[in-house]
Amino acid sequence: MLIDNHGRQINYLRLAVTDKCNLRCFYCMPAEGLNWLAKKELMTDEELLRICSLLVKMGIEKIRITGGEPFIRKEIIKFLTELSKLNGLQQITITTNGVLTAPLVPELKKIGIRTMNLSLDTLDRDRFFSITRRDELHCVLKTMEQLLLHNIDVKLNAVVMDGKNIEDIIPLVKLAKDLPVSVRFIEEMPFNGEGNHYTSLYWDHIRILNFIKDKYPGIQKIPDAPYSTSYNYHIPGFKGNIGIIAAYTRSFCGTCNRIRITPHGILKTCLYDDGVINIKNLMRAGFDDNNLENAVLNAL
Ligand code: SAM
Ligand code: SF4
Repeated sequence: MLIDNHGRQINYLRLAVTDKCNLRCFYCMPAEGLNWLAKKELMTDEELLRICSLLVKMGIEKIRITGGEPFIRKEIIKFLTELSKLNGLQQITITTNGVLTAPLVPELKKIGIRTMNLSLDTLDRDRFFSITRRDELHCVLKTMEQLLLHNIDVKLNAVVMDGKNIEDIIPLVKLAKDLPVSVRFIEEMPFNGEGNHYTSLYWDHIRILNFIKDKYPGIQKIPDAPYSTSYNYHIPGFKGNIGIIAAYTRSFCGTCNRIRITPHGILKTCLYDDGVINIKNLMRAGFDDNNLENAVLNAL
């Protein structure tokens, strides 16, 4: 088991395999994109597999692949196939914007992916364009359809943004009526995009819940899975569930079980730190597995 300095069991890695993206969600990235990393600054597939293999031996049980947009990365399916062969790794999940994902779903199923998070902030084409600056809603909906067709559990992630997609909250909730999806509303975080930079968040988790309650007074709290970042609810008669992620107003620190690795190989022990060690640089400097393991343990 991997236990950190606060006695928390760390068993979940969020691995960002690229910094690049084919959307430009205004709360995440500027319209012109970021200063993309040069290829040599990204970890290679071999480096990714090496660090994942080591971390799984140390106690990581679940890996979430994220980005940027993970499906932008070349040969991602080949990498996922190799990753899925790691002994001791119980679950691989992927967070995707769904633009390039639909045709890959049969292969993802074959690899053994059982759950995917699909980002979908709106069901309206114009609002999708205004949020992501791209006209790709149809691709995302196709991905959702394919995931459901292949019996892959779908968690839909919608960032709630004042003045942008409030009119989407109820239509998104309604998706869970007939579809076995978990629709999760996320408080907007004041990150590096051009989103709101508030001192207090208007659409916090309480306001989001009350807004849904107004329309569905029968909504019921259901138990949250261990380490869950979402408060979970069910509306009687619905096939799916509703989740609310208090990303901004609530700290999950006490039950946090995760570490992150950025596309350039930086290990973060907290979402809000700037990184503790650069694993890629250590590997390229010739660290053997023992030295790497010690570096990770020291970081934790
Ligand atoms: N590109 C993929 C996607 O959008 O699903 C994966 C990476 S994206 C950074 C992961 C998740 O973070 C998405 O669900 C996105 O909506 C969420 N996210 C990004 N910026 C956010 C912000 N400022 N506040 C809340 N959630 C944010
Ligand atoms: Fe791309 Fe995901 Fe960021 Fe949107 S949230 S710009 S899809 S990385």
